[in-house]
Amino acid sequence: MAVPLFDTTTALEPVRAQIDAAIAAVVADRRFILGPEVAAFEQEFAAYCGARHAVGVANGTDALTIALRAMGVGPGDEVIVPSFTFYATAEAVPATGARPVFCDVDPQTYCVSAQTVAAALTPATKAVVAVHLFGNLAPVGEIEALGVPVLEDAAQAAGTRGADGRPGALGRAATWSFFPSKNLACFGDGGAITTDDDALAAFARMLRFHGSHDKVTYEHIGYNSRLDELQAAILRVQLPHLDAWADGRRTAARDYEQAGLGELVGLPLAAPGSAPAWHLYVVRCERADELAGGLAEQGIGSKAYYRTPVHRQPAMRPFAARVELPATDELARTHLALPISPVLSAEQAREVVAAVRAVLG
Ligand SMILES: *Cc1c(COP(=O)(O)O)cnc(C)c1O
Repeated sequence: MAVPLFDTTTALEPVRAQIDAAIAAVVADRRFILGPEVAAFEQEFAAYCGARHAVGVANGTDALTIALRAMGVGPGDEVIVPSFTFYATAEAVPATGARPVFCDVDPQTYCVSAQTVAAALTPATKAVVAVHLFGNLAPVGEIEALGVPVLEDAAQAAGTRGADGRPGALGRAATWSFFPSKNLACFGDGGAITTDDDALAAFARMLRFHGSHDKVTYEHIGYNSRLDELQAAILRVQLPHLDAWADGRRTAARDYEQAGLGELVGLPLAAPGSAPAWHLYVVRCERADELAGGLAEQGIGSKAYYRTPVHRQPAMRPFAARVELPATDELARTHLALPISPVLSAEQAREVVAAVRAVLG
């Protein structure tokens, strides 16, 4: 039986009628921009994260740029970012006028650590973007103990729990993407910023609306970057199901372990005390490309997302790494995402592991 890399439809089936009704209600109401659905989603999502504020924006990339600016990042500043991440994490930095400085990641959690961040710190460092990569949790508290504010890039970590709470309320602020493949996903682009900081939230709210708080006076050069009312209505139907879906992802990861996947490839190491909502289940293998080809022949989806790490992308040449990034380069070469979703069954997990075993021998 074929096992796809993603299953973004099965878990949604039980709520499809409710989503259709929510869409119809917005169309009937006709308040399409910053209406009651966005306001309600912001309240509900902030409460879910354990943060005082959520600010809905157009996507996760804008969320990063706006949050960094709301944290006071601008020209002349440096922002430390991992290179083993989605490109947008770094792309958001030059958009503020600041310079991205790349740091390495932990080879087993795939996330930045206090050690990798410390190696990239300079007097110009204004902030660190800690990516909760693949749903695993970066050690935000340990990084802030270095004396630098942290922006969590939580785009892949909806549904994750940590010992000190959920992502979204661990650093100065956090950013979210609701892109259709993420753990909490809308039917298009969407994003948010969460924070406990009243002033930061108010500034982010102005920046998403052209730098104005009253649509009369424009105090800053801002953006047109709002979460759509339709998307907010769709997200509100799904939010109450997020934890159950995250449990499904965790169960799938346990099924992989129980089926013996760790005897064949390197498994991701959950951050201490955390319960990651694996957005992607990424393993390490010296023969990763051969494994991907062999899995495809057996109808099993897999994908290497970050073969070329961000600091080696053409557009990032002006910001080429000052430090060596050995774990990043090794992970870029060896990582491979295997199928995962809230509804991946134990039988499917066993099938994937049998297919991995058949390829690697
Ligand atoms: C998806 C993602 C983003 C960007 O989100 P968009 O909504 O696509 O702009 C940023 N960072 C990470 C880690 C992501 O996975």
